[in-house]
Amino acid sequence: MLSRGVSGVSASRADVLAELGLAPRWVLRHAPIAPADPVPMARSAPGTVPDATARLARIAALTWDGFAADVAACTACKLCATRNKTVPGTGDPQADWLFVGEAPGAEEDVRGEPFVGQAGHLLDAMLAALGLTRARQVYIANVLKCRPPGNRAPEPAEVDACRPYLARQIALIRPRLIVALGRAAASLLLGTDASIASLRGRVHRHGDLPVVVTYHPAYLLRTLPDKAKAWEDLVFAQAVIAREAGTTPP
Ligand code: URA
Repeated sequence: MLSRGVSGVSASRADVLAELGLAPRWVLRHAPIAPADPVPMARSAPGTVPDATARLARIAALTWDGFAADVAACTACKLCATRNKTVPGTGDPQADWLFVGEAPGAEEDVRGEPFVGQAGHLLDAMLAALGLTRARQVYIANVLKCRPPGNRAPEPAEVDACRPYLARQIALIRPRLIVALGRAAASLLLGTDASIASLRGRVHRHGDLPVVVTYHPAYLLRTLPDKAKAWEDLVFAQAVIAREAGTTPP
């Protein structure tokens, strides 16, 4: 049923919200802004790659033309041995919104695209409710570009090996806002192990870019009552984007 709203064409915003169990729409009237510490992401992974410095320099100079091929050839961590396809990311290379998830799952590993399973359908429905699609104004990426076996949590060495790729994507896109979906993304972007509950509802910074933190869609599929909170977070994010752009949200 959720897929009905994915294109944003056949279903109205109210329909999509009803599908999400979020009607009537929750609107945040006063969005607080709180400063947060910038955390650099381009740290190297000492000792994990023999030519780490050259690798970092190469990735930092990648253009979109070479990006996916570079990821596909990556052997910087052990996930290269078990992956089927790499999942570099998808969307508008000049997106206003950058959504960052954790790591590809089974379906993403087969298709080479992020968030194409059940969690992805929920993400698409939420995007549609905001009037967005993954092809326009949105880019979707993950902390890891390869699937951890059995969907286990990313290991620190894997995150370290992959972090230059996300750093390069952020530099190429220069989004107006980053939405961290879940703990792995929040931890990488903000350098904190704080809970999602404690990070929600305020604007953090990754360098000079605003970051809003919300629950991961896979968690929301298991914890339905928190869907309304995630919607609240996206409405808040929309207000932050509008404020940064000097416009009002639709
Ligand atoms: N979960 C993620 O974090 N990313 C995906 O691409 C799919 C599921």
